[in-house]
Amino acid sequence: MKEFKADLHIHTVLSPCGSLEMSPRNIVQEAKKKKIDIIGITDHNSTRQCREVSREATKAGITVYTGVEVTTKEEVHCLAFFETFDILDAFQQYLDKHLPDIKNNTDLFGYQVVVDESENIVYEEPRLLISAISQSIDQIAAEVHRLNGLFIPAHINRPKYSLISQLGFVPPDLKADAFELTKHISIEDFLKKFSYLKGKTFIRNSDAHQPDLIGESFTTLKMADTSFAEFTKALAGIEGREVIV
Ligand SMILES: [Zn+2]
Ligand SMILES: [Zn+2]
Repeated sequence: MKEFKADLHIHTVLSPCGSLEMSPRNIVQEAKKKKIDIIGITDHNSTRQCREVSREATKAGITVYTGVEVTTKEEVHCLAFFETFDILDAFQQYLDKHLPDIKNNTDLFGYQVVVDESENIVYEEPRLLISAISQSIDQIAAEVHRLNGLFIPAHINRPKYSLISQLGFVPPDLKADAFELTKHISIEDFLKKFSYLKGKTFIRNSDAHQPDLIGESFTTLKMADTSFAEFTKALAGIEGREVIV
């Protein structure tokens, strides 16, 4: 087994709150500088920048887990990851269907653009990506799992847009593959308050919206290689694979 340094929650220039410096090229350069083996691309309610980041990362020998940070109907942020671009596209269709038709106001929220390797804008998302989609957390978890994806409620201890801020608790029947904590709390302290989550898998990531914050928090994945199948096993803590935070 090897240990891989992973930062699985990174926003690009496509997220309205993401810095315009978060181009695929800059993200990959920064990850390389910080010796990160695996990055997760998780823009708000869109997967459209994943392909270009993957292309750029392959050149640099970095693995990308392609995903998204979905805002549920309850305004809970949840990460989802998918193994192939075909599946990612299927989930994008689901997002497009359920994202409300509220226009982005660039003055208020910022630009939502997809850029290519030369940092030319190739797409601008007209709908506001930070809106809540019209599906509940359980419906989204079910759709992610129907597509053999991984479902991870984001920054669950954060006082905003988290399971705990919105619902006040972690529903015991919620089908999550892991839970993300912020750097502001240790797992021990978290479990003192939420002891019924003992034995669950926790990850920690930067949630970077600007290059210098990439890798500020990270998770170590102990597994055979960086494939999606290995990542799935690591989150499940099976066959000697594990997550170290
Ligand atoms: Zn979030
Ligand atoms: Zn985020």
